[in-house]
Amino acid sequence: MDLYEHEARELFADHGIPVPGAEVVTAARDARDAAERLGGRVVVKAQVKTGGRGKAGGVKLAADPAAAELTARQILGMDIKGHTVRTVMLAQPVDIEAEFYVSYVLDRAAGTFLAIASAEGGMEIEEVAAGRPEAVARIPVDPAVGVTATKAAEIASAAGLPANTAPVLQALWQVLIREDALLVEVNPLVRTTEGRILAIDGKVTLDDNARFRQARWGEAEPDPGADPLEAEAAAKGLNYVKLDGEVGIIGNGAGLVMSTLDVVAGCGARPANFLDIGGGASAQVMADGLSVILSDPAVRSVFVNVFGGITACDAVASGIVQALESVRLTKPLVVRLDGNNAARGRAILQERAHPLVQQATTMDGAARQAADLANAR
Ligand code: GDP
Ligand code: MN
Repeated sequence: MDLYEHEARELFADHGIPVPGAEVVTAARDARDAAERLGGRVVVKAQVKTGGRGKAGGVKLAADPAAAELTARQILGMDIKGHTVRTVMLAQPVDIEAEFYVSYVLDRAAGTFLAIASAEGGMEIEEVAAGRPEAVARIPVDPAVGVTATKAAEIASAAGLPANTAPVLQALWQVLIREDALLVEVNPLVRTTEGRILAIDGKVTLDDNARFRQARWGEAEPDPGADPLEAEAAAKGLNYVKLDGEVGIIGNGAGLVMSTLDVVAGCGARPANFLDIGGGASAQVMADGLSVILSDPAVRSVFVNVFGGITACDAVASGIVQALESVRLTKPLVVRLDGNNAARGRAILQERAHPLVQQATTMDGAARQAADLANAR
């Protein structure tokens, strides 16, 4: 789950990272008083979960409280890359001498965390990273050790940041660890003309798997940016992930589903999604899963790959038959049942004899059929 800038700012402040004073409003008429409390002159900032707000006109300086209200009125309701602005943050302006970039991110491929830092932060960081990668330092961080004072000094020095950014680098690591984040990013971290170091923008992505132990997220609203089908699946208790291909995939157990994605990709088709009905899946779960997958317009064929263990294949087959009652099948379905009660499961499907449902006995064979069907449509 991504946080809004103002939420990230609060986490930063909680962990001792200096941030400008700020207030959040959802109505322009409240911006005037808020600006007054903040000292009059403020930066008005759109709160949307996407980058590039500055370039899109979502970050504007207002000289006094009256201007703050006008500017808030302009920015509220604005569309930034498909996100409607419903909230603005008013922040005390900062006299910037230099802008830096700092982030910690989980590098899944390398199996470690990375500190990414640059002395050339600000709105052009993507261009800097693309054009002059040497201007962006990438330093692995061992999570068992963390960012010690020595490590912070190493990161600052590799990136060419002033030495007094080190305490912020350490505190930012604490945000990542203590708040169970997968990404923490400050762009820009600035040095003011008085030499102070301040975080004036923040992005935090929390690890949804840690929700159970982070009481404070309980109040967080569901992410409006999330895929509607993902939200529907989550409501039904299904593990569903939207991907960008054409073959819908349902399997039992994350390991089997992931290898199914690989086998389908190996047959020259792209998975449209990932739906794990889990071990011990009931007929209802199968029916729910199928209805979610079939509602995805990108899906051209569906591959149901079940290896019965705790889950019995006849229950899965009954679930498919039950789903065929409630959802109109418009796309071909390839089913491979193996393991616990496979013969009974296959017989149930055979008896139903739906013209769009075909069975295969091997995973490879089924993947080939599903891929060919998707590519033929
Ligand atoms: P983003 O475009 O979504 O990354 O929004 P930021 O919050 O990073 O703001 C974009 C740019 O606006 C920053 O890189 C700064 O150059 C500028 N900016 C933001 N706040 C201030 C401020 O308080 N003072 C000054 N001088 N510039 C600011
Ligand atoms: Mn920024």
